[in-house]
Amino acid sequence: MSNLGQIFGSNVFNDAVMKECLPKATYKALKKTIEEGLPLDPVVADVVANAMKDWALEKGATHFTHWFQPMTGITAEKHDAFISPTSDGKAIMEFSGKELIKGEPDASSFPSGGLRATFEARGYTAWDCTSPAFVKDDSLCIPTAFCSYTGEALDKKTPLLRSMEALGKQALRVLKALGNTTTNRVITTVGPEQEYFIIDKKTYEQRKDLIFTGRTLFGAKPPKGQELEDHYFGSIKEKISAYMKELDEELWKLGIAAKSKHNEVAPAQHELAPIFTTTNIATDHNQLTMDIMKKVALRHDLVCLLHEKPFAGINGSGKHNNWSMGTDDGVNLLEPGRTPHDNQQFLVFLCSVIKAVDVYADLLRVSAANPGNDHRLGANEAPPAIISIFLGEQLQDILEQIENGGATSSKNGGNMEIGVTTLPPLPKDATDRNRTSPFAFTGNKFEFRMCPSSASIAEPNITLNTIVAEVLNEVADRLENATDAKVEVKTIITEYVTNHKRVVFNGNGYSDEWVVEAEKRGLLNLRTTVESIKALISEKNIAVMEKHAVLSKVEMESRYEIALENYIKTINVEALTMIEMAKRQILPSVIKFATNLAVSINTIKATGVAADLTAQTELLTEVSSLTAALKKNIAVLEETVEKASNAHGDTYDQASLFRFDVFEKMAALREVVDTLETLVDKDVWPMPTYGDLLFNI
Ligand code: ADP
Ligand code: MG
Repeated sequence: MSNLGQIFGSNVFNDAVMKECLPKATYKALKKTIEEGLPLDPVVADVVANAMKDWALEKGATHFTHWFQPMTGITAEKHDAFISPTSDGKAIMEFSGKELIKGEPDASSFPSGGLRATFEARGYTAWDCTSPAFVKDDSLCIPTAFCSYTGEALDKKTPLLRSMEALGKQALRVLKALGNTTTNRVITTVGPEQEYFIIDKKTYEQRKDLIFTGRTLFGAKPPKGQELEDHYFGSIKEKISAYMKELDEELWKLGIAAKSKHNEVAPAQHELAPIFTTTNIATDHNQLTMDIMKKVALRHDLVCLLHEKPFAGINGSGKHNNWSMGTDDGVNLLEPGRTPHDNQQFLVFLCSVIKAVDVYADLLRVSAANPGNDHRLGANEAPPAIISIFLGEQLQDILEQIENGGATSSKNGGNMEIGVTTLPPLPKDATDRNRTSPFAFTGNKFEFRMCPSSASIAEPNITLNTIVAEVLNEVADRLENATDAKVEVKTIITEYVTNHKRVVFNGNGYSDEWVVEAEKRGLLNLRTTVESIKALISEKNIAVMEKHAVLSKVEMESRYEIALENYIKTINVEALTMIEMAKRQILPSVIKFATNLAVSINTIKATGVAADLTAQTELLTEVSSLTAALKKNIAVLEETVEKASNAHGDTYDQASLFRFDVFEKMAALREVVDTLETLVDKDVWPMPTYGDLLFNI
């Protein structure tokens, strides 16, 4: 590509820019902070701020903003102009180190889960210099962490950074205890694959459910869905292709290494994957990616849907969080090498992840829970709600050898036989893939596939980093105290394999047998948000978060509250939207249809012709009885929502009412409407159908 080199990172205050426009000493000091976590000198901050401002002005920026990630799950920004008036009536452009380092947005309107009374409105944003600043929409955006007056985290970035530190510290201890002398830092890396739907803006605008809730609340199955599997990796349509091209360019400008794009399984569904980077930056980038996906779509008269389940009966969207640990001297700690069976370092890191995932499965599960994802997990498309690990044939075999006294060999893939002599021999991977596993080892990383498409990837990564840090902490303690670390590491590996192999499952995760088998193994099956949410406040999980200084008990409790409130509000909005659509759009339309039918019956009768009116009469009868059911189901839903909304007291109990009561009544109402849709004249149906939404680009 011609100018990709110029475009890439052109709106980012990245290392190359810093090197160029900062004095040498300042650059060095800043790098020390970024790479070694040393405190930042205020003088350095002043110099950096000034250079940043000059650079941003050159890029056309007029404002700066502290860009942060409150608990709403999206990003927040408040823009201030660089402008500072002078006594002679003019203005100069100013930006100080203080403004760079600290901001003070009013925190009272962001969710805090009881962490902060509304009168204590102060919130602070603090510059995260490990994630580079960038220019977007004429503003210099400074990635920041967001906390309360009393220092509690009000955002997703703060605990994420804390969790990265926790894992880095423990992993380094393990490496050192195993004799490593070259590594100074361990970081976690993430590459999130993002799924999304693209639909036409005009049809979108005619669907109140999509506008208010991001998903369709009604909609009969179209004659064609995804059964032909002709969309997956299919040739990309021109209109979509133009969108993807502009999206890539916008992302590249922001230094986001968008790499692959393809059509997904469902019609109108697509995927974008960037090249992995450190967890913190990957998380910021994913937030930006979602934001830009939506904005660019509008420029093409398209709408990007990030909801986990925009259409019933058709695959929903997820996010695959590819995760690994790497050292500053370039070693991927989850790289098995050619002979994993005698790679003790790899095995101990691998087994630590296995143990962590087994012991903290509930915490990992809840990290991927949101109301939208409740429609996916456990349905026949996404991984089941049961957490298990896929390792593949090679590693499975090694673990079995370990359990039976020691591993002496690694099965390798060899070459693949294609049967055509002109094709080159293809070296085979050691293992095949398994798309049905929620947590799959894919060569040199784990892929956590449960994550919701619309949510930040902060939570899953905070959890992964912390629970793995906890096990590595135990490993490090044991290795440091052992007389012979080389012997001890083998003992640890054997012990972890034996005690936690129940979480390893290489079979079909979509099958009913697995649900039964998992239960026998004592694995949890937490189907929905409400059913998994108590994991946030269990003693065991609070203890691990507190021990590694990632989240305190109060912070965990506040996150639990926020998640519950979010659940309640989401279902409430959905229910109210359904009621409004049913009452004001659907009911009037079916009445109109029935009236037309009745008029037509009467008109024919009036002619005195002895016509057979069975079809019309039967249809009228059927539509009328469904209309009565519709009216009744609306009333029932209204009553249920009202009751649930007025249920004061414990938030969990209220959320349960929405989950088990309101949700059920919504399904009942939908069923009637979807049946009516198949009977009623298309011209009177008040909104675009699934067919219109999914197949019109
Ligand atoms: P899939 O076959 O699951 O669709 P993709 O190639 O689309 O896989 O995505 C794999 C993702 O994993 C990419 O974002 C890639 O950059 C990322 N990845 C590769 N290696 C690592 C690693 N060591 N740590 C984290 N992510 C990684
Ligand atoms: Mg994947």
